[in-house]
Amino acid sequence: MKNLNLAVFSGDGIGPEITTEAIKVLKKLASMGHFDLCLEFGLVGGSAIKEKNTPLPTETLKLAIDSDAILFGAVGDNDFDHLPHKQRPEAAILGLRKELNLFANLRPAVVFPELADSSSLKRDVIAGLDLIIVRELTGDIYFGEPRGIKKNNLGEKVGINTMVYSESEIIRIAKIAFEIARKRDKRLVSVDKANVLETMQLWRDTVTDVSKNYPDVSLSHMFVDNAAMQLAKNPKQFDVILTGNIFGDILSDEVSILTGSIGMLPSASINESKKGLFEPIHGSAPDIAGSNVANPLATILSVSMMLRITFDLDVSADLIENAVKKVLNNNIATPDICRSGSIKVGTSEMGDAVLKAMI
Ligand code: NAD
Repeated sequence: MKNLNLAVFSGDGIGPEITTEAIKVLKKLASMGHFDLCLEFGLVGGSAIKEKNTPLPTETLKLAIDSDAILFGAVGDNDFDHLPHKQRPEAAILGLRKELNLFANLRPAVVFPELADSSSLKRDVIAGLDLIIVRELTGDIYFGEPRGIKKNNLGEKVGINTMVYSESEIIRIAKIAFEIARKRDKRLVSVDKANVLETMQLWRDTVTDVSKNYPDVSLSHMFVDNAAMQLAKNPKQFDVILTGNIFGDILSDEVSILTGSIGMLPSASINESKKGLFEPIHGSAPDIAGSNVANPLATILSVSMMLRITFDLDVSADLIENAVKKVLNNNIATPDICRSGSIKVGTSEMGDAVLKAMI
């Protein structure tokens, strides 16, 4: 039986409430004999600043490095908004990404039939949507040099950022996207801006080269402006979208609103050995923290991504996903996904409902 060595960083705001529910699901699977489970807990974000004066204490980082995977709640605390960026709670995520080389961000967007009316788009455009964005996470204009605000010869201030990608960076993220496409509907759209940017021409050429090793996956290319439009017009045309850091940042937020509630969307950030940090896409939601109304499903679905991606435990992951479908089908809903006829429940009751549906 596999032994899962997990680091759990629940963080701030609703983080502890939603991770508690995800842990219940993990423990249930362990008790059903799916795997052995070892959980180690660490402080991150605002809660770490309060106790250790830093958002990512050394012992937390060590736990992350020593674990097989990380379950992450959320960070963010208004009390620390006055601090410089590097000292704020959110710096913990950037630190973990850098230290663990988490270069691939995976964001699935699935519209469950019961929630199709919660989207801002019409039901027939959105019902049945099932796509995944593979976003490069550690390169691009966010990290390229030179950068900064400088003065030009006229004494005017000029802002500079540089879009940079090396072939090896493109190859490794492209391989992840092709591998994922291979396990899905085998359709990959690579999104770039090759008509204007040389970096993106290299992106397109390199992805095309990588595709030769994946003849079973059909590859097409799309400019990012068109992709943004197509996602709003006909999102169901997509299966896997591969893109760079800045375009992925924008497109993945566009996709997240298609699905209705931010409380339903899991994500993973992984490295070459498929070790990763698994977290809901939402933040610490201080406005609802401590009131047992947060939707834990995004975090529970992040656990299913972890089991599938890092541990190849497809049966366990399927069990979680089917349980979530069952719960939604039974009209059990936290306030964010409540509709007429729903049975409104709180965070912990939603966790319990998923456990019950797993039997
Ligand atoms: P947010 O995602 O925390 O909340 C946005 C809105 O969605 C709020 O109205 C919130 O109540 C609601 N919401 C979020 N998660 C929900 C859930 N599970 N169930 C029901 N409703 C939910 O974004 P924000 O308010 O812009 O940011 C709050 C804090 O979180 C900030 O400090 C921000 O920097 C941080 N943040 C952290 C992460 C992360 O940890 N990965 C991501 C985004 C924002």
